[in-house]
Amino acid sequence: MNPCPIVPAPRTYRPCDGFFLLPSGGNVVRLLTKKLDSSISGEESYRLEITPDDVVLTASAPCGLFRGFQSLKQLVFLAKDGRLPCAVIEDSPRFAVRSFLLDSARHMPSVEEIFRMIDGAALFKLNRMHWHVSDDQGFRIESEVFPRLNTVGSYRDGDTFGGEKKPGRIGGYYTKEQVKEIVRYAASKYIEVVPEFDMPGHVSAILASYPELSCHGGEYCVRTEGGIFPDLLCAGKQSVMNWIVQLLDEMLPLFPSEFVHIGGDEAPKGQWYSCEDCLRLMREKGMKNAEELQQYFTLQVCDYLKSKGKRAIVWNESLKAGALPPQITVQYWLGDKKTTLEHMAGGGQVIASEMKYMYADYPFFMTPLSKTYRYDPFPHHPEAVAGVETTLWSEYITTEARLHEMAFPRIAAAAEVGWTEKTGKKYARFHRNIKRLLPLLRSMGIAAAPVRDWSGASPRALREMARFLHRTSAGKMVPRQMQNIKEEKRLARLQGFSD
Ligand SMILES: [Zn+2]
Repeated sequence: MNPCPIVPAPRTYRPCDGFFLLPSGGNVVRLLTKKLDSSISGEESYRLEITPDDVVLTASAPCGLFRGFQSLKQLVFLAKDGRLPCAVIEDSPRFAVRSFLLDSARHMPSVEEIFRMIDGAALFKLNRMHWHVSDDQGFRIESEVFPRLNTVGSYRDGDTFGGEKKPGRIGGYYTKEQVKEIVRYAASKYIEVVPEFDMPGHVSAILASYPELSCHGGEYCVRTEGGIFPDLLCAGKQSVMNWIVQLLDEMLPLFPSEFVHIGGDEAPKGQWYSCEDCLRLMREKGMKNAEELQQYFTLQVCDYLKSKGKRAIVWNESLKAGALPPQITVQYWLGDKKTTLEHMAGGGQVIASEMKYMYADYPFFMTPLSKTYRYDPFPHHPEAVAGVETTLWSEYITTEARLHEMAFPRIAAAAEVGWTEKTGKKYARFHRNIKRLLPLLRSMGIAAAPVRDWSGASPRALREMARFLHRTSAGKMVPRQMQNIKEEKRLARLQGFSD
């Protein structure tokens, strides 16, 4: 049994005789010796040596020192009677990317709340925050170039998520100063912020602000409920691509990350099949169907990002019309894995966030903690896995307390999937260790889900599941999606396309 109490479990942990005596108050920072040593491979790797005389943390880069310090922080917290057991830890991550998705579009956490999420994620050595800032229910970043994105697109007329009505003007946006503050804060914890501007679907808030970006004009509203909507950016008008370029030109300087997520999920194509401009482009280019038009649209945006020195990430639906260049990272969440595997075989990288394991906004009854922990992303192609991500879609996450109990301890389980080698994983050990770290999280202002809920079998977890089913059926998500698909197929046939 690995006696190491750290989460995520390190690559190697060698207990030694003796104890380092902590100063009163447990503040080890004063006594810690930090060393940079270029012979340690990997900027996140570190070596932590605790002897009776000193505590020495060595890494090749400041990032590795920070990761190592998180291990030390946990060990100091767990130390009994001011005695830190002597040990040598040598550690490095399994995957380059360990990410969590924060959805500010459906419900918008404050800057301070985001800071606390970043603190919690950093404790478990996550290194990326995928920030979902634009969707049907709101656009969340200040725009001076397109101010209606804020005056119109950042607010909705009440909430009807899952049939539960809440009146009033709901929403808001982060100022550019706040965005910079969040990016800086995350960077101080070696977490990079990757923004997601979802397109061509999930754009009701953008179209409510600028209806001329749609296929048919007319009136659009910022959506007050969850689900999949037929609203799309028009892929056939050059003016729309020009608009996207201007938006990216304004937004990209806020985010130093090399990566930008451009969505591409859940885009039913009914509107494209009834748009003169989209149909003209499809016929001119000899496209077989509107999935090829989405591929064309995606490639245009990716090429523009490339010209700006950025790399795109897309959801796996973007592969429906066939392969994308390997420079584009694909995020797999649901559906046929074949296209994603082909992308991997072609040299492309994948971020794995398979819904049934990694969606932290789902009840424990559906995804017990052990299931997230046991996720083994694309086990036959680990070399093509850039990393893993746990998602916190916020249709039903309306308060910080709710955010914390959905995120923790699942983030810790996901962190171990991403950081710890498969051979070092053991659920029983993880379960014991994370339980002991809950008071540390509490001291950071984070109240995790109660231990009895983690298996999904507690009375409370069952009530959660019942509420989830009620919301899903009251929100009529499945029938609405079926209607979207039916309409797409009908219009495709009408225009002489395959589907
Ligand atoms: Zn169109």
